Amino acid sequence: MSDHAHPHHPNIVTPYGESSSKCGYCNGARAAPNSSPDSAKSSRTYGLLAPSLSPTLYKYLLDSGFRRSGTYIYLPNNKETCCPQHCIRLGCEDWEWKGERKVLNKVGRFCNPPLESSEVDYREELIAYVRENLLRLNVDERMLRDIGIKKKGDVYTTSILNTLKYKHKVSLEASEDDFENKDEVESLEIVKGFINITLFRRFSVSSFLPSTTKNAAVGVKSKKISYKLLPSHLSLHDPSVHRLYCEYQQKVHNDPNPYDDDPHNVDNSGFKRFLVDNPFSDEEKDLENGIVLEFDDENILESFDLLGCWHLHYLIDEELVMVSVLDFLPDALSSVYCFYATHSIPLGRWSVIKEVEFCRRWRIEWYYLGYYIESCPKMKYKGDYGVSWIRRGRGWMKLDAEGRRVMKEEEESLWEEEKEEEEEEKFGPARISEVANEIGIVLQSSTEVLKIQRLNAQGRQIVRPILEEFVEKVGEEIAENVVVKL
Ligand SMILES: [Zn+2]
Repeated sequence: MSDHAHPHHPNIVTPYGESSSKCGYCNGARAAPNSSPDSAKSSRTYGLLAPSLSPTLYKYLLDSGFRRSGTYIYLPNNKETCCPQHCIRLGCEDWEWKGERKVLNKVGRFCNPPLESSEVDYREELIAYVRENLLRLNVDERMLRDIGIKKKGDVYTTSILNTLKYKHKVSLEASEDDFENKDEVESLEIVKGFINITLFRRFSVSSFLPSTTKNAAVGVKSKKISYKLLPSHLSLHDPSVHRLYCEYQQKVHNDPNPYDDDPHNVDNSGFKRFLVDNPFSDEEKDLENGIVLEFDDENILESFDLLGCWHLHYLIDEELVMVSVLDFLPDALSSVYCFYATHSIPLGRWSVIKEVEFCRRWRIEWYYLGYYIESCPKMKYKGDYGVSWIRRGRGWMKLDAEGRRVMKEEEESLWEEEKEEEEEEKFGPARISEVANEIGIVLQSSTEVLKIQRLNAQGRQIVRPILEEFVEKVGEEIAENVVVKL
């Protein structure tokens, strides 16, 4: 890193050092017994104020265990804090989650309420569906001429497997898994040679019938879901966003007066400091009406410079139901926070599914969910979204069944192991001092970027420990790419 010409460097930080605070996860219950004097303050973090960071450098910080709240960047001190926090992320390409279908079914049912069962009969469509699947299992087409389907209550049933067996002497060991998954089918069971199918009738309307006779034929009005991305500083001035946030804080976090927010003065609100302010330069994101996201638009990342902080608005029939605060970073989407309305759809889980889907469309590999806290039941849900990865030491550990077991049974020793690893990898005091010597610093009263040697003896004595602690926390690569404002 060469000398900096001026303080408009893309990466400017002010180290705040280590601090203790009350732990919102365990309320001090997990504080070490002899950790007094003030065991109520059992959460320990190292913090930086970062008025300006490039998305690339922030991604490095994220991968070193940091997170942000507004422009405050912090790293839990997992060696000393009561509730160790570990970055958790999902690999989008091969992500699978068994809860996904259930959530999407709820969304579907809400947007397309079921019809009265007498209204439409889907026998013809289901005969075609069963035939198609049996053909895929290499059953002779001639044997499938007489598939019959009966309707008993909500269940459609066919005895075609018994017909094949007794009439055509074909014993087909078909199982539920042999049938192609269709959104229309709520359940498909094979019992004693009968195939029993239950439909989500709302889905049948939209996909079994020819498109021209869709909703019109049955008089169903579907609700329309839309997604809109807004730069955070523009989202701030949408009154429905702030209202939703206050309602959510009140309801979910029992906050009687969320951040003392004055809706008439959002420019000076806790909401703004927490979820709008960010270290990324976003003056250029001046899209008054935001970007309406279409799922088939795969090239959105090429059309827009999305790097930075955005609010993703989820709307159902134009009504705002959820806002997801997202950082777009190189090859990563980081979920900063998400707030939503009370709803029959499990909105929080839905946001994870949708956002992973967006990542896939846009070929973003990693979706970051924030911190995973094994010791906190309230925060363990983050490990329940299929297979995920948690940051451990300087690498990532797969949180599959085995990883969970390790986390659960060997939590303490695991962290010890990690500490040792970190100990080993940590570069020595001589190197730390060397890196600190090269960091560009700007003093409060000046705009000139200088190095520590330029300070007088007293100045060096004050600044050196700050810089060395900073280098130790962020590592060499990050330290070399920032200007430290003191
Ligand atoms: Zn705690």
